[in-house]
Amino acid sequence: MVTPANQMAARHHYIQAALPQSKHGVASIRTQPETLIEVEEALHRISVRIVIEPWRASAFPIIKDLMVDRSAFDRIIESGGFITAPTGGAPDANLIPIPKTVADAAMDASQCIGCGACVAACPNGAANLFTGAKIAHLNLLPQGQAERFKRTEAMVETMDEYFGSCTNHGECEAACPKEISIDVIALMNKDYRKSKLKNRKEISRT
Ligand code: SF4
Repeated sequence: MVTPANQMAARHHYIQAALPQSKHGVASIRTQPETLIEVEEALHRISVRIVIEPWRASAFPIIKDLMVDRSAFDRIIESGGFITAPTGGAPDANLIPIPKTVADAAMDASQCIGCGACVAACPNGAANLFTGAKIAHLNLLPQGQAERFKRTEAMVETMDEYFGSCTNHGECEAACPKEISIDVIALMNKDYRKSKLKNRKEISRT
């Protein structure tokens, strides 16, 4: 039987299990005020010191208290995080066969929630994991091929305007609550290199 007491015990157990996974002493909690009290109690019980601070990254200026402006992410999405499709009746999705491994990889990348934990954890303040995830979930699918190189070039160059450069520390992957793989960065770099070598962005305009 689920009682308030064993619900609280389950949450305490969850918090105790989650904390050691935070290798860098950083964890994020999205919660309601009443749950926050329970979190505080659980942390007190296991003698953990908790520090709450806004995401620390120069691309995320602080608005007030714990609020940060993450609109730099929106600028990246606006520059190419979409597909262009003619209007009209929606085609049947099943008409385009997609291998399961490809669909799974695209769906894994699409899990990114744009939280910014990867940027805050990165010593360079880089947004490569976020941008790589947003590019990969479109570039891997057949529907994303027409604008693949134009998209990659635009999104990477917008990212570079706001964020630091990736040096493969891997802190982003460890901090990501959606377990986005660092492989998306390799995919992004590969497509960006191809885009530049072949000048595909210009070709796609003609
Ligand atoms: S930490 Fe993960 S989910 Fe959050 S923005 Fe970065 S890639 Fe997306």
